[in-house]
Amino acid sequence: MPFKTFGLSEPLVQGILATGYTTPTEIQSQAIPVALDGHDVIGCAQTGTGKTAAFVLPILNRLAHERSRHKKGIKSLILTPTRELAVQIEQSILGYGRFLRLRTLAIYGGVSIENQLSALRRGVDIVVSTPGRLLDHMQRGSIRFEAIEVLVLDEADRMLDMGFIRDVRKIVDALPTNRQTMLFSATISPEIKGLSAGMQKSPKMIQIGRPQNPIETVTQHVYPVEKSQKIDLLLHMLKNSPMYSVLVFSRTKHGADKITRRLERSGIVSVAIHSGRSQGQRQRALDGFKSGKYQVMVATDIAARGIDVSGISHVINFDVPAFAEDYIHRIGRTGRATATGDAITFVSQDEKKYLGQIEKFIGRRFSPQTCPGFACVAMEPAPAEPKKNPPPRRHGRTFVAARPSSVRAKSGPAWRRRRKARPHSA
Ligand code: AMP
Repeated sequence: MPFKTFGLSEPLVQGILATGYTTPTEIQSQAIPVALDGHDVIGCAQTGTGKTAAFVLPILNRLAHERSRHKKGIKSLILTPTRELAVQIEQSILGYGRFLRLRTLAIYGGVSIENQLSALRRGVDIVVSTPGRLLDHMQRGSIRFEAIEVLVLDEADRMLDMGFIRDVRKIVDALPTNRQTMLFSATISPEIKGLSAGMQKSPKMIQIGRPQNPIETVTQHVYPVEKSQKIDLLLHMLKNSPMYSVLVFSRTKHGADKITRRLERSGIVSVAIHSGRSQGQRQRALDGFKSGKYQVMVATDIAARGIDVSGISHVINFDVPAFAEDYIHRIGRTGRATATGDAITFVSQDEKKYLGQIEKFIGRRFSPQTCPGFACVAMEPAPAEPKKNPPPRRHGRTFVAARPSSVRAKSGPAWRRRRKARPHSA
């Protein structure tokens, strides 16, 4: 079914075709007609399914008609959790709406407010914003909402996770009540339902697939490996497999920087993206990764929400994410739309519990793979030994498990074992 059948305005259809889309994705097929009819929408779709166009196209279509009525003021507000996502959505709007002569502004922190102030003074039709900087503008009185007709909350679950709920409520309270509200979220929790209840009117629910399902175009691999060997395994894979555009995830900013430095030292062109870097650095990292300047980008979960780079061949979870939902988001960075991709997860002994939670969440068990030369920790708990071991004995105020007699006899004290292991000097 081509985009034309939605009854979208001709210049908008031309803009979609010029972007390279020929057929709507499932979320687009279901959400666009409902949104065009003016209903409130709750869209539950995995990342990478095309949900941006699902809410942007109905907004653009409405504005395409309104332009002829010369209405003034911001008519549509899209709230999104991260700066990168705000830029991404702005770029999508500019792409689809290239023949519409609409004015779009992305508002986010970490950059000078002056350019945003002067753009607002000149006049804007659509604002895409993160909650914090938008509140700054509201406090300064530099933004007015009386013409708002459509509100979108994108990645609503992530906005709740990031603690934006009060900011979002404050913003929504300042908007006209007579508006259309679309809420998109990867998961529909009771909190999301509560948020919807406070700001939507009889919303139509659109759910694409089970939220727990990772997108089907991604092949998932799990490599059990000692923590200390993860970096060597990463280097080994990058050097010995055809991996051209690789997104590596680290749980912490410090970890992301450390991995990047190590890759750089080994001659792999890479860059880090996380909230500890300035907005300019983050945007340059993203642009360089998109253009192919960097083979590898190392990201934390927060920064990764806005990463929509086509052609990411591999996502590597250097650390297993502590939340199963983050796993879905991470691996959804590859295999976008109709492309395919591979997701590789390194699991050390202490991360097995997180992997177990992911398996439970997505409803399947992984078959661990191994890479020759890399020590592997057992994925299953070691089978209980026959009752040779003596029971734990009290040592001071704590219990200490006694070593089996066989180990005690062979090993001796630690310093002697170390000395035995040390090679003889020449
Ligand atoms: P999103 O879930 O909106 O972030 O979109 C994921 C990716 O799919 C982006 O790279 C979009 O450009 C792409 N995409 C969205 N809709 C379509 C479509 N109808 N046909 C082909 N690609 C699409």
